[in-house]
Amino acid sequence: MTTSPRKIAFIGAGNMTQSIVGGMVKSGYPSDLIYVSNPSPAKLEKMRDTLHVHTSQDNAEVANAADVIVLSVKPQLMADVCAALTEQVANLSEKLIVTIAAGIRIEKYRQYLGNSIRMIRVMPNTPSLVGKGMSGLVADDRVNDDDKAYITEAFDGVGATLWVANEDELDILGAVAGSGPAYFFEFMASLQKAATALGFDREKARLMVQQTALGAAEMAIASELELEDLRKQVTSKGGSTAKGVEVYQGADIDDISARAVKAAVKRNQEMA
Ligand code: NAD
Repeated sequence: MTTSPRKIAFIGAGNMTQSIVGGMVKSGYPSDLIYVSNPSPAKLEKMRDTLHVHTSQDNAEVANAADVIVLSVKPQLMADVCAALTEQVANLSEKLIVTIAAGIRIEKYRQYLGNSIRMIRVMPNTPSLVGKGMSGLVADDRVNDDDKAYITEAFDGVGATLWVANEDELDILGAVAGSGPAYFFEFMASLQKAATALGFDREKARLMVQQTALGAAEMAIASELELEDLRKQVTSKGGSTAKGVEVYQGADIDDISARAVKAAVKRNQEMA
């Protein structure tokens, strides 16, 4: 940690909390400053045993103990969880409130938790569960640079972080990176089907596809070239790759991606 650790409470001990807390502890965050609550004891026991954090079945208890509260329950439970915190937690306005729930806007949290809160919304994606996430972050104007640096470091433990200017941009980031793993799986599955249609069994076809996706992603990360130039670099004129790429381009893959992202942005806005 380069920022000062603070007492941080996670409300909800689901998959995302387990990954984020795991990443924080792995990066050296002191376990005894981390608090987690969940209604059922099984997940808490697991986190206590493996990560040595404080646990409780009482949300208010952990929220009262901490300087930072991370709301990590399903969106449909958020109103009730916030209502209980508003009643039972002292000095909410002095704590930094972070939410990872999709779709709920900061304005809504002000209605739930009071107008004086200071808040960061984080939109992680599913690969955070394997430490390769892409998290988008947006803050209200009461959040200071220390708060931002602190939360950046926490989410860097499960992948990369990117601050955006406003919640509209977070909707776009959600449509690209939040929904993106599904787009990639869709594409990977179609490539797998193409290989099985030509005689490979599913397992071998899957190995080819997933290892190729991993290698391509790592090359993109390692290279300073534009993605389009990387593609050209692995495509010899008149060769077999060029023939395959021509088929994708003929189907206007740019238009397909543009329409997919716009449709997902629209849905994010409808749900807000
Ligand atoms: P999850 O279902 O694994 O975890 C939610 C946890 O909340 C469960 O352990 C549940 O027992 C607990 N819970 C239920 N009622 C509660 C209450 N009243 N008080 C405290 N805890 C309660 O879900 P998750 O995947 O960890 O997602 C958590 C949040 O993160 C959700 O809002 C989700 O939309 C958001 N999110 C998840 C992902 C992802 O990839 N999993 C990506 C982006 C955003």
